[in-house]
Amino acid sequence: MAEEKEFQDNNDRENVCYMCHRSESKAGRMLKMPGNLHVCVDCLQRTVDSFGNGGAFDMSNLGLSGFPFLGGAGDMMQGMQDLPQDTEQQEVLTGEVVNEDGTPVVEAEEETKEGEDAPKRGMPNISFINLADLQQGFGRRQQVKKKPKRTGPLIDPDKVLPPHKLKEKLDEYVIGQEKAKKAISVAVYNHYKRIIAGERLDNSDGVQIEKSNLLMIGPTGCGKTYIVQTLAKLLDVPLAITDATSLTEAGYIGDDIESVLSKLLAAADNDVERAEIGIVFIDEIDKIAKKNSNRGRDVSGESVQQGLLKLLEGSEVEVPVGASSKNAMVPLTTINTKNILFICGGAFPELEDIIKERMRENTSMGFNADLKDKYDDDENILDNVESEDLRRFGLIPEFLGRLPIVVTLQNLTSEMMVSVLKEPKNAILKQYQKLLELDEVKLEFEDDALLALTKRAEKRKIGARGLRSIIEEIMLDIMYEIPKDDSIGTVIITKDYIENNGAPRIELRG
Ligand code: ADP
Repeated sequence: MAEEKEFQDNNDRENVCYMCHRSESKAGRMLKMPGNLHVCVDCLQRTVDSFGNGGAFDMSNLGLSGFPFLGGAGDMMQGMQDLPQDTEQQEVLTGEVVNEDGTPVVEAEEETKEGEDAPKRGMPNISFINLADLQQGFGRRQQVKKKPKRTGPLIDPDKVLPPHKLKEKLDEYVIGQEKAKKAISVAVYNHYKRIIAGERLDNSDGVQIEKSNLLMIGPTGCGKTYIVQTLAKLLDVPLAITDATSLTEAGYIGDDIESVLSKLLAAADNDVERAEIGIVFIDEIDKIAKKNSNRGRDVSGESVQQGLLKLLEGSEVEVPVGASSKNAMVPLTTINTKNILFICGGAFPELEDIIKERMRENTSMGFNADLKDKYDDDENILDNVESEDLRRFGLIPEFLGRLPIVVTLQNLTSEMMVSVLKEPKNAILKQYQKLLELDEVKLEFEDDALLALTKRAEKRKIGARGLRSIIEEIMLDIMYEIPKDDSIGTVIITKDYIENNGAPRIELRG
């Protein structure tokens, strides 16, 4: 009983008609039947109609006791008066249909997406209820999530700060990468300014502002994903992060290309309009480069690039909801990608060599001996990237054409990594210090300890990504031991401790 009450009190769910699968908001009042099944008034009326040879029987003239299912259904008749004449089809995916255990009930969506009048389906004249099904259905609750109600505009204009302010905010979180932060702030500002201006934009002069998707090139762990995550948070727009390597052409093993939009839709709480102004970050984009193989064309990478084209340029795309591939059982919804900002990121190993080679080729002949190592020591060689280099790397020209802004990021130096540890608003050292503060213990790191720590991270060659796991390793013992001893006041992490040559320095309280 208590469970039942909880079920009824669950305000973000609504009941679904057992027969036509429409939700309460579409079908109106429902009659509750034993086993927590619900049937809408509409279906009930049609049932009675079919008993009475097609419409001769009017439910509103029927006493409640006259219908075997209706015994005790107090407010049923009110629902009858509200009976819609022309039942409106349930929009595909007003919400995810779920069973009692939270698993999606896909048949419900499937039934209604074909544009037929749902209540007419599956209703042969008399025995339209399969009693065996009904019994199975007993005890199985069907509800859909209510469509989330949005208050306020899709995007808050106050959050779309001018580029210099946006960069200032990024500076609070992201260390270094000045050029990239600047370029991205400008691109994102322009993108959202264009969306906010929306209808007001006068296109009569033939000038249409096109959206500018971005390509971020930089080594692993230099902050590509982090910048995008921070931006999405600052702008308060939904963000989907996906990995290009998981994508395959429809029909192959792997995720369909449209699944990137499914993730965005989920991030937007199934609110299609909000998803349509979101950001999609596709990582490891270099992994879908066309391979320069002599044994024919590489179809996998190239076809994924081809598949992504239509998403990047802006089109209406049918998207599987709550699944990574389209199939008969998965409900679909349509998303327009016109205002979705796509940011692709990748490490592009060997791109430096391609750039160097081109630069050497471009310089005048005869000086080659002199030029051979001219670019070898240039740490910022990536800054010289041109689309020709990316094409040589294996990105197809059409794909590159849809990523007009290319930003490059640098490898983090040891000093930058120390800053990553200490300075950002949510810096990992600050997090540990706060955690230990709860035990009234102070945590300090000596400068050379931090440097030693970044050296360990550098060996892993995964940039700042390795920092967290190393810190977690070295903090494990400390977090284990400290609560044992009330007298500890301060823990000082030394270089020796990081290099496994000793214990941390401990200062006692008082
Ligand atoms: P990638 O470039 O491979 O996408 P990430 O952005 O995922 O790398 O970086 C991994 C983690 O390292 C981030 O979550 C962040 O905590 C930290 N990090 C990386 N680069 C920076 C940076 N420039 N400033 C601050 N933190 C960073």
